[in-house]
Amino acid sequence: MRRRIVIGNWKMHGLKGSLGELEALNRELAVGVPPSCDVMVCPPATLISAFADRATGGQVQIGGQDCHTEPDGAFTGDISAEMLADAGASAVIVGHSERRTLHGDSDATVRAKALAAYRAGLTAIICVGESEAERDENLTGRVLKSQIRGSVPETATAANTIVAYEPVWAIGTGRTPQRAEISEAHDAIRVRLAQQMGAEAAEVRILYGGSVNPDNAVQILSIDGVDGALVGGASLHWRDFFAIVSACPTLSAA
Ligand code: PEP
Repeated sequence: MRRRIVIGNWKMHGLKGSLGELEALNRELAVGVPPSCDVMVCPPATLISAFADRATGGQVQIGGQDCHTEPDGAFTGDISAEMLADAGASAVIVGHSERRTLHGDSDATVRAKALAAYRAGLTAIICVGESEAERDENLTGRVLKSQIRGSVPETATAANTIVAYEPVWAIGTGRTPQRAEISEAHDAIRVRLAQQMGAEAAEVRILYGGSVNPDNAVQILSIDGVDGALVGGASLHWRDFFAIVSACPTLSAA
């Protein structure tokens, strides 16, 4: 059985004043029954340390949004996986479509970043997903398989890796695929993971990401093969994010 996880990706949003959002989320998660899934927030790098301090002892884990492939060096403006771990992160998103598109991260770069995450003891949250043009040409399955092959290292395990299926055209647009399309994409990802990881692939958590919000969370999180969600816009306000976390069923069948 796979324990589900809901992860918030704050992208380039948030200042020190946003700590209140985390505190409110933490407070809400602490009352009543404990959340039925794992919960993580990935704030901008500037806030990781403060968020990690504030999250100590609570239900929320803290992650980074990207990392460099090297542990240190002359890479002005970059941040290494070791630095994220040092700041209190336990995971890092790699291969988000905004990094692939706006920063030119190739599958090989994403793979190297995932390896950097493992080196630093972080879980790699590896994002894959087709563009709208690829979807229109019925290339979704092929694109996902090729991204998994190129981005997921041979040393990936269910413990060090989470995969997020994020159709590029669904991110921040308010549009989502049909239930059957999400299920089919998750199946294709797991089949491809099994080719390289064997039986361990059954334990890897595969999340859906793209315009998840409090109104569609119950529907999306109940789809077969969906082990949680990667949430952008709706993770910025604790009430919305808490509503999505609350919509998460407990376990997925392996
Ligand atoms: C994301 O950026 O990972 C994402 C899923 O964004 P949104 O939820 O805003 O579509």
